[in-house]
Amino acid sequence: MKDKLRVGILGATGAVGQKFIEVLDGHPWFEITALAASERSAGKRYADAANWIGSMSIPPAIADMEVVAAAPDLEADFVFSGLDASAAGDIEPLFAREGYPVISNARNYRMAEDVPLLIPEVNPDHTALIDQQDRGDGFIVTNPNCSTVGLVCALKPLVDRFDVDAVHVVTMQALSGAGYPGVSSLDALGNVVPYIGGEEDKVVTEPTKLLGRLVDGRIEPAALRVSAQCTRVPVLEGHLEAVSVQFRGTVYAEDVKEALRTWHNPIAGYDLPSAPARFIEVFEDERFPQPRRHVGLGRGMTVSVGRIRSCEVLDVKFIVLSHNTIRGAAGGAVLNAELLVRQGRLAKRAVAGVVAG
Ligand code: NAP
Repeated sequence: MKDKLRVGILGATGAVGQKFIEVLDGHPWFEITALAASERSAGKRYADAANWIGSMSIPPAIADMEVVAAAPDLEADFVFSGLDASAAGDIEPLFAREGYPVISNARNYRMAEDVPLLIPEVNPDHTALIDQQDRGDGFIVTNPNCSTVGLVCALKPLVDRFDVDAVHVVTMQALSGAGYPGVSSLDALGNVVPYIGGEEDKVVTEPTKLLGRLVDGRIEPAALRVSAQCTRVPVLEGHLEAVSVQFRGTVYAEDVKEALRTWHNPIAGYDLPSAPARFIEVFEDERFPQPRRHVGLGRGMTVSVGRIRSCEVLDVKFIVLSHNTIRGAAGGAVLNAELLVRQGRLAKRAVAGVVAG
C-alpha cells in the first residue's frame, strides 16, 4: 500500500494497547498516528504514561508521542480499541458517530445485532452487518473473547463439514489474559483458579453468532450448544482448551482430522499481512500442542489442534491452543482491519475538514 492508513489506538497504555503497538510495528499498511487513553495518561509522553510490559522495547517513535484523551478528534483514518469495558461502551459509539471505523477488542458491542463479531477466516461475510449500522459515518467491528477465538477456529471446519450438536470445553487460560497486574501472584503461583468472572457466558454465547449464517442482513445463530468451564492457570501466554464435540450423525476422530486438514480457508487468496501461512496446525504427537512450545506459531496467529481422538461420552475430543493476546486480541483485530481494507470498507478519511492525502 503506497499511503499507509493512519491508526489511532484507544486504550493505548493498557495491556492490549501495548500489544497493538507491538503487532503494528513495521506494518506495511498501517501507521500509528495517535495514542489515546484516560485523563490519567493524557498529556504525558507515552513512555511515561504506560507501564510497558511488552517483550520488545517501545518503538522509539512511539515512546515520545504524547498520549491524548480518547475524544473523537484524532488524526487517524480508523481506530483500534483496547479500552476497558467500563469506558468502551460510551467512547466507541462516539468515535463511530464522528465517522471513525472502530475495530474493538472490548466486549460491549460483540453481541449487538448490527455489529460484526469477526474472525476473518471464519465469517468474513459478516462484515455486511456494517451496512445495517446507523451509528453515524463510522462503524464498530469487534473481535471475540480470547477463549472463544481458539475454540471457534477449531470448530469452523467441523461445522462446515458435519452437523455439530454440542460442544463441551474446559479452558486453561493464561495470566496475560487478565491484563496487568491481573491475578495476584499469591493466587496464581502453583495454583489453578477455577473461576474467571463473566468468561463462561462469553464462551457459551459468542460461538453461535460467529458460526451463524448471514441471512437477509441478519445473523441466524448456529444451532449448537456450548458448555464451558473456564480456569486460570500459571502460564504466561496461550490459552489451552480441552474440547469434546457431539455430532448429529456418525463422525469419527479420523473424519475430524481430515476436515481440519482439508478445510478451505476463505481468505487464502487475500494476501493479508497478518494472516498466518497455516491457519490451523494439526499435531500427531500426543504431547502437543503446549503453550510454551507452540504459542508463537504463525507469529501467534496460528491455532494449534492436537490429541484428536474418540470421546467416551460425546463423539470426538481434542486440545486447542491459541495465543490469547495476539490471535485472541491485538493480532486478531489487526487482521480484521486488513480484511476490511481488502473488502473496500476501510480507507483514508477526512479528518478535521481536511481530506487526507
Ligand atoms: P487494561 O490494561 O486495564 O487497559 C485499559 C485501557 O483503557 C488503558 O489504556 C486505560 O488508560 C484505558 N481507559 C480506562 N478507562 C478509560 C477512560 N475512562 N477513558 C479512556 N481510556 C480509558 O486492560 P486490557 O487488559 O488491555 O484490556 C482492554 C480491553 O480488551 C478490555 O475491554 C478487555 O476485556 C479486552 N481484552 C483483553 C484481552 C487480554 O488478553 N488482556 C484479550 C481480549 C480482550 P489509562 O492507562 O490511562 O488508565
